Amino acid sequence: MRKKIVAGNWKMHKNAAQTKDLLNQLLSEIPAETSAHVFVAPTFINLASAVENLTHSNISVAAQNVHQAESGAFTGEISADMLKSVGVKTVILGHSERRSIFHETDALIASKVNTALVHDMTVIFCFGEELKDRQSGNHFNIVENQLRDGLFHIQAKDWEKIVLAYEPVWAIGTGETASPDQAQEMHEFIRETVRKAFGSDIAEDVSILYGGSVKPDNAKEIFSKPDVDGGLIGGAALNAKDFISIVTSI
Ligand code: PEP
Repeated sequence: MRKKIVAGNWKMHKNAAQTKDLLNQLLSEIPAETSAHVFVAPTFINLASAVENLTHSNISVAAQNVHQAESGAFTGEISADMLKSVGVKTVILGHSERRSIFHETDALIASKVNTALVHDMTVIFCFGEELKDRQSGNHFNIVENQLRDGLFHIQAKDWEKIVLAYEPVWAIGTGETASPDQAQEMHEFIRETVRKAFGSDIAEDVSILYGGSVKPDNAKEIFSKPDVDGGLIGGAALNAKDFISIVTSI
């Protein structure tokens, strides 16, 4: 069943005390009756304490990345088994910062997807075009290729573990947002692309989040679009009041 989801990607922000502080604010202030399924993605080092803090709450914890290998000589990396061992069941993959700064290719992201699925983790799969692609009118092709090369190798049964997050790179952290109509146009295209490859049931069931400078003052309009099932939030997720306002806009 398609779910409404709001996920906060904290990136490399918040130390241990700040993580606890923000989580406590979210715990006490997110209304119990919210219809959104809420995720937070703190840094690796704070995941275990976040899971502990959020036990018995309706907020879930996601990691921001995972290594594709099971274990081995990969200095500085974290495996899916390690994430699962501290209670993390969801991972964000393919974020544009991982693609551009850390040179993650579609093939690498595809192998991380496989690893996450083997460990029965939910994947928030991010993708989206750069400004030059949109300006040249190539944005639909880019998005379709990212889906095909990074994700469409999975089996039909795996889709219940997939959340899509369309994040136009030109809108991430820039204050520039896709208009609600631009978001809807692309989300509709994405759903249609999933439909062609995997059929209507899967296409109708998959949640497609929008990410890119979602703020309290634009969330409601973006979330009102029929193919937008929620948001992946960066900057505004670092402030309890803003994040809660976005969560309650759904
Ligand atoms: C993100 O990093 O996924 C993101 C959407 O960031 P922001 O909301 O700051 O644009």
